[in-house]
Amino acid sequence: MTAREADVLVVGAGLAGLAAALRLTAAGRSVRVLEASDAPGGRMRSDAVDGFTVDRGFQILNTAYPELRRIGLPDGLDLRPFVRGALLRDARGLHLVADPRQVPAGAGGLVTAPLGSAVRRALLGAYLADVTALPASRIRHGRDVELAKALRRRGVTGDPVEHFLRPFLQGVLLERELRTSSRFVAFVLRSFAYGDVGVPAAGMGALPLALAARLPEGTIEYAARVVAVRPGEVDIAGGGTRAAEAVVVAADPRTAAGLLGLRQPAMHAVTTVWHAVAAPPTRRPVLALDTEGGPVANSVVMTNAAPGYSPDGRALIASSVLGPEPVPDRLLRSTLARIWGVGTTGWQEVAVTWVPAALPALPGGSPLRKPVRLAEGLYVAGDHRDTPSSQGALVSGRRAAAAYLAGR
Ligand SMILES: Cc1cc2nc3c(=O)[nH]c(=O)nc-3n(C[C@H](O)[C@H](O)[C@H](O)COP(=O)(O)OP(=O)(O)OC[C@H]3O[C@@H](n4cnc5c(N)ncnc54)[C@H](O)[C@@H]3O)c2cc1C
Repeated sequence: MTAREADVLVVGAGLAGLAAALRLTAAGRSVRVLEASDAPGGRMRSDAVDGFTVDRGFQILNTAYPELRRIGLPDGLDLRPFVRGALLRDARGLHLVADPRQVPAGAGGLVTAPLGSAVRRALLGAYLADVTALPASRIRHGRDVELAKALRRRGVTGDPVEHFLRPFLQGVLLERELRTSSRFVAFVLRSFAYGDVGVPAAGMGALPLALAARLPEGTIEYAARVVAVRPGEVDIAGGGTRAAEAVVVAADPRTAAGLLGLRQPAMHAVTTVWHAVAAPPTRRPVLALDTEGGPVANSVVMTNAAPGYSPDGRALIASSVLGPEPVPDRLLRSTLARIWGVGTTGWQEVAVTWVPAALPALPGGSPLRKPVRLAEGLYVAGDHRDTPSSQGALVSGRRAAAAYLAGR
């Protein structure tokens, strides 16, 4: 029998694994995190490319996420906020639609943006007011259907969907059809209403690095790929079995499903193309969205929010495209030229981050929480057990740890 090396082995040092390890060590348990790669963060990592900070796909933190509040935003993260709103591109120009509490000029966009008749605007306004005003418990216990259906039921159709909700939400949900759970979307919209959205000054990877630094030194073992899992035991690539009282599998959704014999979750894909430009097309830290149905889900001048993403005076722009297929460079550049209203031939490609398994799908009717205890001594965590978000990943890790601590 293999000697136990810790109370709990955690497989994976993404947000879920880190949250589990933090909760367990806070409760006085010994933990060993086995991470296949060379750093913590999983899908939330940043790389240095020619001096630029390039996240592994454009993503943001939202300070209204309850679990981020619970775990505590690390000191020194220096969250650089974006405008709570968007620039909407249509044939007439770019319309800034933003929370007027943050950007007074954003209120004007609500009038000029292509959102259709007064009745349609009022129905959209009523839907947004409802989801942001409802207590979280009402949303959690409410009826769940796919978002497209929930919107139709409320009469939110036509321009408000095509020119605002779909362009905005596709970049968050990483799907265009709005098949995602209406309750999850309500939580997302609430968090945009109540929190700041931004990126750490040093890149998204700064968050998991800071969380990992809260663990006792040596807790995380890198280059340790787990190839088989049993209750209280794992096998490592290259040989060797590790034992503990329990194992928490916090690998990415596909790997976790493979290791645990769970059903493979459907995953949404996204590619982010990073360009360096001499002069940014806007000085505002705000997402630009295409209301004309092009291939770009969103485009944003990262350095307007976080100047440290660039090593010199050039601006860094992140533009994201949904789906597993890359978009030909000419089409990407012509779409970006139309969205921003500037020439893009001089834009220099810095990096392309292709993430074929970025977010697990959460279709309407899905439970917002799935069980984390699989057997005695065997637990699972990750955004596929909760909502597809950093919030979901962190909650799932805490839940798995709590289930172990409670002996459930
Ligand atoms: C492009 C993109 C944009 C996103 N945008 C947002 C956003 O704006 N807002 C938001 O809230 N969320 C967003 N997300 C989602 C968020 O990043 C994830 O939900 C979260 O990071 C998932 O964390 P996790 O710990 O569940 O999994 P992961 O981050 O996948 O971590 C799993 C870890 O397990 C390790 N691992 C895998 N296999 C093994 C093995 N066999 N042995 C040992 N270790 C293993 C991996 O190396 C990794 O470190 C986005 C994600 C992507 C990719």
